[in-house]
Amino acid sequence: MLSKVKSVSLKGLEEIDVIVEIDISRGLPSFNIVGLPDEAVQESRERVRSAIKNAGFEFPLHRITVNLAPAEVRKAGSVYDLPIAIGILTATEVIHSPDAVNKFHFAGELSLDGGIRKISGALPMAIGLSEKKAHFVLPFDNKDEVEVISGIDAYPVKHLNEVVEFLNGDRSIAPSHQTISDKLKEGGEFEFDFSDVKGQFQAKRALEIAAAGGHNVVMMGSPGCGKTLLARRLPTILPPLSEEEAIQVTQIYSVAGLLRDGIITERPFRSPHHTSSSVSIIGGGRIPKPGEISLAHNGVLFLDELPEFRRDVLEVLRQPLEDGFVTISRAKETITYPSRFMLIAAMNPCPCGWYGDPVHQCSCSVYDIKRYRNKISGPLWDRFDIQIELPRLLPEEMAGQTGGETSKEIRKRVVNARKMQNERYKGTGIFSNAQLTPKLMKEFIPLGSEERSFMVNASERLGLTGRGFDRILRVARTIADLDLSKEVKLPHIAEAMQYRIDLSII
Ligand SMILES: [Zn+2]
Repeated sequence: MLSKVKSVSLKGLEEIDVIVEIDISRGLPSFNIVGLPDEAVQESRERVRSAIKNAGFEFPLHRITVNLAPAEVRKAGSVYDLPIAIGILTATEVIHSPDAVNKFHFAGELSLDGGIRKISGALPMAIGLSEKKAHFVLPFDNKDEVEVISGIDAYPVKHLNEVVEFLNGDRSIAPSHQTISDKLKEGGEFEFDFSDVKGQFQAKRALEIAAAGGHNVVMMGSPGCGKTLLARRLPTILPPLSEEEAIQVTQIYSVAGLLRDGIITERPFRSPHHTSSSVSIIGGGRIPKPGEISLAHNGVLFLDELPEFRRDVLEVLRQPLEDGFVTISRAKETITYPSRFMLIAAMNPCPCGWYGDPVHQCSCSVYDIKRYRNKISGPLWDRFDIQIELPRLLPEEMAGQTGGETSKEIRKRVVNARKMQNERYKGTGIFSNAQLTPKLMKEFIPLGSEERSFMVNASERLGLTGRGFDRILRVARTIADLDLSKEVKLPHIAEAMQYRIDLSII
């Protein structure tokens, strides 16, 4: 008896159809699976065998061969437990109608008692299947993440028995649907607020500009000045996720196996430790998983103690920062994950942390400080449109009661500035000022003669490189947007020039 069951695989976030073929023939009892990585085969066989028996069905004492096709598609093991079990039960005619089976795609891990367990990647699988107008039988615990996808009929199931009854027409399961918009309306609840942080008004202003234009920020200051407190609050002033963005973020968490309850409605904030490997930051592994830069997609990647990160890790960040996606090459395939994030970094001014502090004495030599700062390459430093030094808080600021505006108030201005950018960049393929290329800048930031000569003078005086010049213009564009001004004027440029640190000046 031969049976065929449709299932799915993923290449990055792209869904690929897999056919599970099961042949049961006379001969000594055996159970072989081909087309799966070796280490996954053994476990899958045990789970399928136990699940079928414990669900109350007979496991055939014949020669069973399972083939997962196409062979060249990489397959993660446990997703195929359910389709393999369905195939065996169809071949042994426990499930009467192969035509009924053929209507669906199946994915699910089995537990030994026949229960069906949550899988990774259900959302991108469902999105791919929805484009094919396919019907998808999947674990009940994956229901919350896929039910917002329109155009797919998803049938959530908890136990193998349920699936058999369903396919035999003895039970009905309603496909599950929900709309995403209710979940997104306020952009999530945050436990932090900008008004919790006392003082540091210049840094707060800089972060508002960064949020408004999508600019990367580096903050330099002594320990305890509030760098981490401020970075953590950045997602609270970013615009709420759009429906499309929320689905993109959720897909990545789904593939990474990090999804807890349904669709993600808040912008992600990731803060990997400085000892992290490049694989954990960029992504990869035997079955390539998204790294921190993709988990931060549409959100914030915070690198605290920037110079302490391994230099090779920092250097591999540059390309994805530019492209908005990352390509991971493995032996047999190349996978792409999105990685458009805001990079926020924090660093001390010197190894001991107290260089420039009016109270603490710095114990570092000039050589130590230079070596510390040299860990960050010029090209990486240039990726930070906004560079700010945070002063030690004055005693009256520490004692002050007020932290200033709430995140909600700041976010209103950010949202308005983003609206101006959305209109301006319609059809150009970019969404924010941070993404402006030199060519686009000519078109979108026309300067008056006064502004132009001010910029030229300043860049001579400050010894700006071409990249430094562009960085100031991009930030000035955002400051003008926050001002709801169509043109970039002198005060906008003058303010933008303040967000700049020359690392070589010690
Ligand atoms: Zn020092």
